[in-house]
Parts: sequence; C-alpha cells; structure tokens
Amino acid sequence: MNNKIAIVGSGLAAVSAAKVLISRGIRPTIIDSGDILDEKISKVVERMSHLDPDNWDRADVSFITSNPTIHNKKTFPQKLAFGSDFFYGKTDQYQFIESDGIMPPVSYAKGGLSVGWGASVLPPDDNDIKSWPITNKELEPYYRSVLSELPYSASDDGLSSIFPLYSKKINPLDLTSGNKEILQDLQKHGSFDGKKNILFGQSRLLVQSAKNSPLNGGCRYCGYCMSGCVYGYIYKSSQDIDKLISSGLIDYIPNTLVQSVSEKGNIVEVLTHRKDTEEINKFIFDKVLVAAGAVNSTRIVLRSKKLYNQEIRLLSTVTFIAPVFRIKKMKIDWPNANTQPGIFLEYKTDAISDNWIHVQLSTPNEMVLEKLGVNLNKRNIFQWFKKKVVEHLFVVQGNIHSDHANGYFLVLKKSTNDKQDVLHSRREQIQGTQHTIKQSVWKLFSILRKTGCYLLLPFVQNSIRSGGFHVGGSLPMMEEPLKETDTNLMGNPKGWRHIHVIDSSIFPSLPATTIGLLAMANAARIASKIQID
Ligand SMILES: Cc1cc2nc3c(=O)[nH]c(=O)nc-3n(C[C@H](O)[C@H](O)[C@H](O)COP(=O)(O)OP(=O)(O)OC[C@H]3O[C@@H](n4cnc5c(N)ncnc54)[C@H](O)[C@@H]3O)c2cc1C
Ligand code: SF4
Repeated sequence: MNNKIAIVGSGLAAVSAAKVLISRGIRPTIIDSGDILDEKISKVVERMSHLDPDNWDRADVSFITSNPTIHNKKTFPQKLAFGSDFFYGKTDQYQFIESDGIMPPVSYAKGGLSVGWGASVLPPDDNDIKSWPITNKELEPYYRSVLSELPYSASDDGLSSIFPLYSKKINPLDLTSGNKEILQDLQKHGSFDGKKNILFGQSRLLVQSAKNSPLNGGCRYCGYCMSGCVYGYIYKSSQDIDKLISSGLIDYIPNTLVQSVSEKGNIVEVLTHRKDTEEINKFIFDKVLVAAGAVNSTRIVLRSKKLYNQEIRLLSTVTFIAPVFRIKKMKIDWPNANTQPGIFLEYKTDAISDNWIHVQLSTPNEMVLEKLGVNLNKRNIFQWFKKKVVEHLFVVQGNIHSDHANGYFLVLKKSTNDKQDVLHSRREQIQGTQHTIKQSVWKLFSILRKTGCYLLLPFVQNSIRSGGFHVGGSLPMMEEPLKETDTNLMGNPKGWRHIHVIDSSIFPSLPATTIGLLAMANAARIASKIQID
C-alpha cells in the first residue's frame, strides 16, 4: 500500500492508531516532540532493573523516588517519573503558554503523559457518554482490541455488570492486606441502597502481573509504583513506540514539533520545527492523524486555521483527595506491595446527576508515608505513634464528570513582534463545581461510614484551583460540525477530509471513569475506518 500517513505525537492515542494502521499494512511516520528521561536517571533505572528489589542500592532508591512536591501544603503532590517532571510541559517550553498559574496538562515527552500516568482504566458507562455522536456499542470492538494487546490487571467482580472487562486476558495483581479487608467490608454491606448506584471491585490497571505468566515476569511488589516502575511493568506508550521502531514498523521523527497542517487538494502539508537545529521543514502526506494531546492538538488546529483571539473551552474532570480512617486496623504490607490503587468504587448521587463518580482507594503508598514522615525502620515513640495511625488509614481519590467540573479557556494570540504565537489558558470558575464536590464527598462519606471507615472531611483537597489531570473536548465530535473547531465522527475539523484529530480533544464530554482507555479505543476506531487506497 502506498499511502503515506503521519501521526503527530507518541502518547496513548497516537500509539493506538499506529498499531491499527500497521495491522492494515501501512508503515506510519510518527512526528514527535519526543523528550526522554535524563541520561543520569536512565542509568540508575537501568541498573536497578537488573536487580531484585532486595539488592537495590539505597542511594539509587532515594535518588529515583525523591519528590519535593509531596510536601506542598496547598497543591496536590505531583506524580513524577523516577524523580523527574520532564514529561510535564512547562509554560515556556518550546511553544509559549501564558496561563493564570494553573496550566492544563501538556506533554512533550516520548509517550506523552503516559510516562507518569496512573494506568487506571475503566470504560465509560453508556450514560456517561450520552452526549457523544457514537455509542459504547460502537466503541466495544476497539476496547477489546486495545486491551487484548496490553498487560491488564483486573478481576471479574461487582464492577463488571456495568463496566464490562472487554478482555478474557485478565491477570489480577495481589491486593494489599488492607485492600482485601476493605473490599470484604464493602462486599458484606452489598449494594447499600438497593438501586445499584454503588459498585466496587478490584482496580483495573494496565500493569503486568506475574500470576499465570511467570515466564514473562511481572510485578515484583517492590512498593515504588508512584515513582515509576524500573522493570517497566506499568504500561506507557513509549514502550510500544520503542518496540515499533526497533522492529522497523514505523518511521520515527523525534525532536520535531508540528507547527501547522494544511490540506492542498488530496494531500496534506505539514510544517515542522526541529527543536535541536531550529530547522523548519515541510512534509507531504496523504493523511495526517493529530494526537499531540488535547492542548497541543487544539493549538495546531487553531494555528492551521488561523483562528486567533477565539475563546475555546477545554473540558476537564475535577478531582478530590481525602484520607479515610478505618476503625479496624490493617496490616501494613509496604514495601512488599504494589502501591497503585487497589479498589475502584463507582457511585452516583441523585443530588448531582446520573453520571458515575469514580473513586480509587489506596492503602498507604510511598508518597503517603513520606508525607506523614513515617519511617517503618526507625524505632522511637514518634514513629511508633505514626505507625499506629497509618494502620488505620487509606486514601481516596475521586473524579467527577466534566459536565459538573470547571474546565479552561484557551485563546491563541498572534505575536506582535512576528515571533511565535502564544496560547493563553485561563482556569474557568464555576461556583457549582465546589457544590458538586461537597455533595460527592458527602455521599462517599455516607457509603464508607457503613463499613466502619470515616472520611476525614477537614483534610479533603480538590483540584478546582490546581487543575485537572484529564482534559479534552475542545474540538468536539458531532454528526455535522457547525463551528470551525467542531469535528465530525472521523475527527476531521470542519472542512477538512485528510486531517483527523484523534485524541481526547475530540471527546464531547469526559467521563469520570478515566479517559486513557477511551482515547485509545476512539483513536483505534478512527484509524480502522480511514480510507486507504
Ligand atoms: C499524573 C497523571 C495521572 C494520570 N492518570 C491516569 C489514569 O490513571 N488513567 C487514565 O485514563 N488517564 C490518566 N491520566 C490522563 C492520561 O494520562 C492522558 O489523558 C493521556 O495520556 C493523554 O494521551 P494523549 O495521547 O492524548 O496525549 P499526550 O499524552 O499529551 O501525548 C502527546 C504527544 O504529542 C507530542 N507532542 C505534543 N505537541 C506536539 C507537537 N506540536 N508536535 C509533535 N509532537 C507533539 C508529545 O511529545 C507526546 O508524545 C493521567 C494524567 C496525569 C497527568
Ligand atoms: S510494585 Fe509497582 S513499581 Fe514495583 S514492580 Fe510492581 S508495578 Fe513495578
């Protein structure tokens, strides 16, 4: 097949589309900003990956787990990758973003945000994507094909009735003793209100478990998931990109930023800027799939269509975090534990809407222990007391659908001095978000109270001010695009036929139940339907 197809970016959406195109006999070209981890850190990670956790050098462990943001009092701690924040784009990095201090998540890394994501995956319920022009039923084959190729820790349990597993290849990780006890408590109390509006089960994670696949290796329960997995058992799309490069199935152009795209008859011109040499290049393709992440894909479309000074709403989910006190104590397994969330709890509250609120429960992980100053090896009265408290603690992280959350406003402004244009971002203020969080937290309090667990209300933090991790919806899909920034079902912005946007920027709304799997499935759907000669 002679079709020349380019994909912009190497995040979850891009890689998912690349795999589909390859299966259709195409060799796509990936044009990627492609930042990678600092060499010094990579060497430490590499060294540790060849050793059992028991044999790790303590200095290496401290080096790659150091995270100064844990001690921030006002904002959420930031998840880093081996102590580095290189995968989070900065306001003055490569392309300017002028923000009000709350920047939406952007990435210039090989693998994008998946380099440091939580790897939690839950498909949306039909209801949570009811404003979409496509249904869950249409996405189902793509959930299946995406999951069939990825490591998947999940269990067929109370979640499956509404949130299908979409794969038989499930390989659940071992839960911590605390998570097992909490899950049993939840099970004892059944579905509480009899309305089936509360569901729970083992978390679903794109993580390789050693169970049933000892030959392939799998989680070693080392206790440092929050800093990144030196063994590579937590999936990130850069792993697939590296495999596709080494097997010669893609052309990979790194260090390159796509500036703009334009359709000239049946071809697409792509204008790029090389980060290292400052070179400007023009490439020609038959089709281009844009997956630069919600913010940068929006910037490419605005710039390409010369849509300056227009305010675009970027949707976001909103998050809350809180500690929970359990009356019965729990055994602390750390460090011999997987420290990702062990339980998903999904619930609805009539006071808000019919959308699910997604909650992840984690027994104390390395970040929580660090925040509380707990050192399990030290023996003194303060540490004894702290350990006693930790034996009763777990943490909940809740996520609320974008319909009830404040997003951002993006505006592309032309530079006055003929330099690069600047994307302005402003966090939206919606009074209602605060109210929604209060109601969601209160409902969660009442659910957990029945199991002898008390959400510590004074310590609830939320992301209204600090910003959401899940963004999209700036170029929404619809049957018939109306505005220049609307897209059709194939992700084509209005008037375009060969340029497809395939990441979460085209989601008409963002379900609370994670968006990574949905982004991969939707990108796979578009890539499988693109017409090729
Ligand atoms: C801390 C954190 C935890 C998260 N946890 C979860 C989770 O548990 N579950 C979940 O579902 N979601 C989670 N998310 C959200 C999820 O990670 C993102 O939604 C998802 O990774 C976005 O993928 P993407 O492919 O759309 O874009 P991105 O990951 O943003 O990737 C963009 C790609 O484009 C490249 N790029 C950018 N601009 C250009 C340009 N102009 N030219 C060329 N290349 C460019 C980048 O280098 C990168 O390769 C989390 C996010 C964060 C920040
Ligand atoms: S516990 Fe986490 S970091 Fe350790 S091996 Fe397992 S997945 Fe990797």
